[in-house]
Amino acid sequence: MSPGQDPDTGRYVIATAWECPSCDVQGRSLDDAEAACWNCDGQVTVTARPSVRLEQL
Ligand SMILES: [Zn+2]
Repeated sequence: MSPGQDPDTGRYVIATAWECPSCDVQGRSLDDAEAACWNCDGQVTVTARPSVRLEQL
């Protein structure tokens, strides 16, 4: 038995949308631990937690 086999719940993941105030850039990560600026590699501000379809990744 594995959760995620349900077609209604297995296709979505909660992403982390963030912005870096220093660089004025935005990004999106699937893992909070990896939410770091791709430009300066610094701390970012989480702005939203959108659910995204896996097909869109
Ligand atoms: Zn930055």
